[in-house]
Amino acid sequence: MDRLIEGYRRFRSRHWPQERERFEHLARGQQPPIMVITCSDSRVDPSMIFDAAPGEMFIVRNVANLVPPYAPDAAYHGTSAALEFAVRALQVEHIVVLGHAQCGGVRALLEGAPPTVSDFVGQWMQIAQPARQRVMACPDVHDLQLACEHEVVRLSLENLQTFWWVREAVEAGRLRLHGCYFGIRTGVLEILGPDGRFAPVPEGAA
Ligand SMILES: [Zn+2]
Repeated sequence: MDRLIEGYRRFRSRHWPQERERFEHLARGQQPPIMVITCSDSRVDPSMIFDAAPGEMFIVRNVANLVPPYAPDAAYHGTSAALEFAVRALQVEHIVVLGHAQCGGVRALLEGAPPTVSDFVGQWMQIAQPARQRVMACPDVHDLQLACEHEVVRLSLENLQTFWWVREAVEAGRLRLHGCYFGIRTGVLEILGPDGRFAPVPEGAA
């Protein structure tokens, strides 16, 4: 906890004076144009990757950046609840599914969840079974983990469209869906193109 108190004090002394005005404005309400769905992995920081300020991105993090299919039942749907709020209440204009390299959730999907995390992780990763099956059916895959991480992003984008209000907003041109993938070792962001392939964002001046 000492680490957190120290960090908070740095935030108050170094950042708050410049950020105060922004937060006063944000206290009146949030209107983020972008929703990001990414992994809980501590090495993936969407605010850093996209150099975004508070108020710009509505972020949902879960194991392996998964979007479950639309299932309005009595189960506790944390990701679906956040999605509904972002799309129907905040009316975000973009949803970005951000996958990443060395994803432990995808590893659990491929190798089975370790026994110490067997209560929920294995069951949660069942959402990604179709991605695993597609990759396994592909004969020329040389990096199973990478192929599966990419496929999980594609699957989450497909599942997003099982939510009728997402589909409706996309068809009306009010909402766009995007797939991205972050290389932890390289720091390179890839974007899923209309051809269904991931390609690195070209380097350019900011
Ligand atoms: Zn992950």
